[in-house]
Amino acid sequence: LQSRLPAVGTTVFTLMSALAAEHGAVNLGQGFPDFDCDPRLLDAVDAAMRAGHNQYAPMTGLPVLREAIAAKLAALYGHAYDAATEITITAGATQGIITAILCAVHPGDEVIVIEPCYDSYQPSITLAGGVPVPVAMRVDAGGYSVPWDAVAAAVTPRTRMIVVNTPHNPTGTILRRADLDALAAIVDGTDILILSDEVYEHMVYDGQPHASVSRHPVLAARAFVVSSFGKTYHVTGWKVGYVAAPAPLMAEFRKVHQYNVFSVNTPMQAGLAAFMRDPAPWRDLPAFYQRKRDLFRAGLANTRFTLLPADGTYFQCVRYDGISDLSESEFAQWLTREIKVAAIPVSAFYSKPTESGIVRFCFAKKDETLNGALERLATV
Ligand code: PMP
Ligand code: GLN
Repeated sequence: LQSRLPAVGTTVFTLMSALAAEHGAVNLGQGFPDFDCDPRLLDAVDAAMRAGHNQYAPMTGLPVLREAIAAKLAALYGHAYDAATEITITAGATQGIITAILCAVHPGDEVIVIEPCYDSYQPSITLAGGVPVPVAMRVDAGGYSVPWDAVAAAVTPRTRMIVVNTPHNPTGTILRRADLDALAAIVDGTDILILSDEVYEHMVYDGQPHASVSRHPVLAARAFVVSSFGKTYHVTGWKVGYVAAPAPLMAEFRKVHQYNVFSVNTPMQAGLAAFMRDPAPWRDLPAFYQRKRDLFRAGLANTRFTLLPADGTYFQCVRYDGISDLSESEFAQWLTREIKVAAIPVSAFYSKPTESGIVRFCFAKKDETLNGALERLATV
């Protein structure tokens, strides 16, 4: 078979989780919590199953869940999405991302991605016949930032879409209002679409706001905004997310969605809708993860790693140049094998070989897991 994705192998997350398991390492690599979700959410799904919510959901998602999402987006970001025509429930953010790309990108269209970036964007663009156009983030002592002048310079008449991600995996940076204004200045007056990956929307720290694209009228009018219940409710294995977009974009999205998955599993949707009535879980999430971030950063300050800023997500990037001159991938494997703490090389988030001497740790872990990892990292 001639591969549609010849450059793609097994994802770094699968590889590093397997290596961590093989060596009995603390897995701070792949991003997922090692603690369970709120038992009330489990009860809500259990009740939904027992109440008979076990057949196909509507193609677009359960109305009660779409309405809960619309109400939340209006309350948080001041954008009134129509639950009937502008929100669709997806099988995780991953399916929302590839479906948005497949419905909008024609063969030969260019899509700008800002590297390092989440590993599903570029294969999704390639499968649509599009051409990924990577623009590298700037990284210096102050951390990572998006060079909007370079993004503007990458725009051509073939640019169909720009993909942004805030809070950002893997760097833990966030976009601010000024970033969105810079992006809006680039796309205003063009027919360029925005795909905004906001799965970590509730993991923004130090009292900063989440600069959702849905908050920004120029951007929201041309954007697919993606989120995931997996991140917000500690249920990454459920693979339920959603996409919000203006009705004409969503109509095209749904044409593809109905043949990607048709619909997403019903009892999880019903349970999530019931659980969403209480705003406390997402309202309390920044404080919950900020405490873990601070615990982890305080511990790392006693090691030979150098901390980069971590304004959002549940990831902490560190430099190891004072420790080793191995490549990122070799260093992450060495750390897993010898020190028994797994990390992810940031080089895995670039399309071309890029070595910055930086690896990513996930701190969505029990305190005891983080403390155990910190004890080992202090020996490096
Ligand atoms: N986007 C980013 C930036 C992510 O980190 C993740 C988490 N793996 C996803 C999308 C995918 O989310 P989901 O598990 O809901 O498909
Ligand atoms: N989003 C998670 C991460 O970045 C894992 C996703 C996956 O395993 N595909 O670590």
